[in-house]
Amino acid sequence: MVLEVRDLAKSYPVRQGVVLKRTTGHVQAVDGVSLALRRGRTLGLVGESGSGKSTLARVLVGIEKPTRGQVLVDGEDVSTMSRGARRELRRNVQMVFQDPYTSLNPRMSVGDIVAEPFRIHRDAVPRGGRRRAVAELLELVGLDPDHVHRYPHQFSGGQRQRIGIARALAVKPRVLVCDEPVSALDVSVQGQVINLLEDLQDELGLSYLFIAHDLAVVQHIADEVAVMYLGRVVEEGDGPAVYGD
Ligand code: ADP
Ligand code: ADP
Repeated sequence: MVLEVRDLAKSYPVRQGVVLKRTTGHVQAVDGVSLALRRGRTLGLVGESGSGKSTLARVLVGIEKPTRGQVLVDGEDVSTMSRGARRELRRNVQMVFQDPYTSLNPRMSVGDIVAEPFRIHRDAVPRGGRRRAVAELLELVGLDPDHVHRYPHQFSGGQRQRIGIARALAVKPRVLVCDEPVSALDVSVQGQVINLLEDLQDELGLSYLFIAHDLAVVQHIADEVAVMYLGRVVEEGDGPAVYGD
């Protein structure tokens, strides 16, 4: 298993009152989820809004800490290792965000956006090779490498999501957590971005956790599907239990 979660839970305090900011309880956003992602495969994760998909995604890539449970990369528990080892494992799990209109800094050039992960993972691509790496990444996702100096507003939605994918791939991860990567895009370009992700998977041997609220998109790309409801996985599999008859 390249990525696994065991009994993962994440709760948020609920605060009421602007002045007192008292904690009046907790929202159990993710409530005991266990999932496993196999190498080179795509696990679809569906569920209605508020079911905990994005929270799970943020915990998986290390943006947030779980309240309970474990995240394992290549069978190793991320929480029990040294900071350096944890960072190296985290490098292997990168995120593609939902909305490329908000997830790309409008003041940064495309080259700087794609090179952003090098600042955190300094060993992924040695200095001296980064400029070329950025150009290769742009080419890999179907963009013109001569456009590195342009800014996000000069690109269409589909092209922006290609930039987001290039950034996610910059530090050579083996897993991409794709959080509704096409739902903010025009229907006409959704298929192109899905095709790109499929091609990249074949070419680079990537594993995907692919989040969507639309079962049709997931049905197309995923080998297996898990359905979340109120923080829990309520269905899992690749057959009629999930897709219906
Ligand atoms: P989904 O991605 O399936 O729409 P989310 O993970 O965004 O679900 O949300 C799950 C639940 O957790 C919701 O009830 C949401 O309101 C709550 N939630 C998510 N993020 C936060 C946060 N940062 N603070 C407080 N509550 C949150
Ligand atoms: P190199 O590894 O080629 O020496 P550096 O490590 O000095 O490059 O810098 C990499 C930075 O170069 C990245 O932060 C990125 O913003 C920027 N960059 C990438 N491609 C270009 C380009 N074609 N022109 C200008 N800057 C670029």
